[in-house]
Amino acid sequence: MNIHEYQAKELLAKFGVAVPAGHAALSVDEAVAAAGKLPGPLYVVKAQIHAGGRGKGKFKELPAEAKGGVRLTKSLDEVKAAATEMLGNTLVTIQTGEHGKQVNRLYVTDGADIDKEYYLSMLVDRATGRIAMVVSTEGGMDIEAVAHDTPEKIQTIVIDPAEGFQPHHGRAAAFALKLTGDLNKQCVKLVEQLYNAFVATDMSMLEVNPLVETKDGQLLVLDAKVSFDSNALFRHKDIVELRDVTEEDPAEVEASKYDLAYIKLDGDIGCMVNGAGLAMATMDIIKLNGMFPANFLDVGGGATTEKVTAAFKIILADPAVKGILVNIFGGIMRCDIIAEGIVTAAKEVNIQVPLVVRLEGTNVEKGKEILANSGLAIVPADDLGDAARKIVAEVKQAA
Ligand code: ADP
Ligand code: MG
Repeated sequence: MNIHEYQAKELLAKFGVAVPAGHAALSVDEAVAAAGKLPGPLYVVKAQIHAGGRGKGKFKELPAEAKGGVRLTKSLDEVKAAATEMLGNTLVTIQTGEHGKQVNRLYVTDGADIDKEYYLSMLVDRATGRIAMVVSTEGGMDIEAVAHDTPEKIQTIVIDPAEGFQPHHGRAAAFALKLTGDLNKQCVKLVEQLYNAFVATDMSMLEVNPLVETKDGQLLVLDAKVSFDSNALFRHKDIVELRDVTEEDPAEVEASKYDLAYIKLDGDIGCMVNGAGLAMATMDIIKLNGMFPANFLDVGGGATTEKVTAAFKIILADPAVKGILVNIFGGIMRCDIIAEGIVTAAKEVNIQVPLVVRLEGTNVEKGKEILANSGLAIVPADDLGDAARKIVAEVKQAA
């Protein structure tokens, strides 16, 4: 789960992290009022979307020369103008994809007098089972580009959670960022605060880009991007409340209501499968046969009629879907029950695209019989390879 920059900063502030003052705003009036509460003279108006690269982003509705999603303004009138231009419009950045994201919230924050910009992030490194802290003197830039062009300017410091944060981790970060004197001390403290926040809230990623050094010698977190481990959200009710579903794919939000693991992909073949491993294999074999999956969808072990119906609806709501491949293994759940679920669901949602069903497992013969006698144009398949070949052939024929 991702949250907005202002939420991330409010959360980090609870752990003592130094962030500029600021207030979220949902309207132009709120934005002006928010700026009124800040000392000035520089007010920064920032689009709140779940994507980075806002500063260099472009608004679809505005002329090409218009500024992006981070505006440095010097009066309440300029705040008003910036907020008016941004709210309701669509911001396209390198992270949003070409469709962009509509800006519905702003963050009006204190302008910092920046001397230098740095990069600092933390993430769970699955290979080592530790937390990797990545730092670079090249802040405020696209870190992927830095990694590609000047990899020597990126350093990784690994923190073993069994050992926890130690001052030497902070000093290593400060050394890599070439910070000395009081800035070095601030850096050691900051790394500890960020690490504590990371672990206590079960983050999977925390990216501060830029971390800045101000002209008066303060280290400040100027931007913050945070993702949480969804599997740990059950123990963070307060964080779950920060979720902004308008930032998420509507189909994925709908799927989560039915406990379906659904991820939208770019291909043409909708997939409904039970078990993540089988779902991955199904996607692979579709590709092997020359087409691409439109989604990943795991209906889980207890695929009820209700779940299967919801899954069909979600798959069919995607206009890109040209055919559906159902691949279900009846283990604890018997194939005849699953077949009944598929038939009921298929009748309810009136499927207009080719539908290939491969069932295997307990009571498979009974299940196939139910599909065959359903009166629906269901193409039965015997095994995974057969199913993939059939759906690809059906879709090509229908085209
Ligand atoms: P994004 O990464 O989405 O483009 P940032 O928050 O990193 O958004 O802002 C982009 C740039 O705007 C920063 O690198 C910094 O130079 C400037 N900036 C952002 N916030 C402030 C601020 N509070 N004061 C001064 N400059 C800022
Ligand atoms: Mg940034």
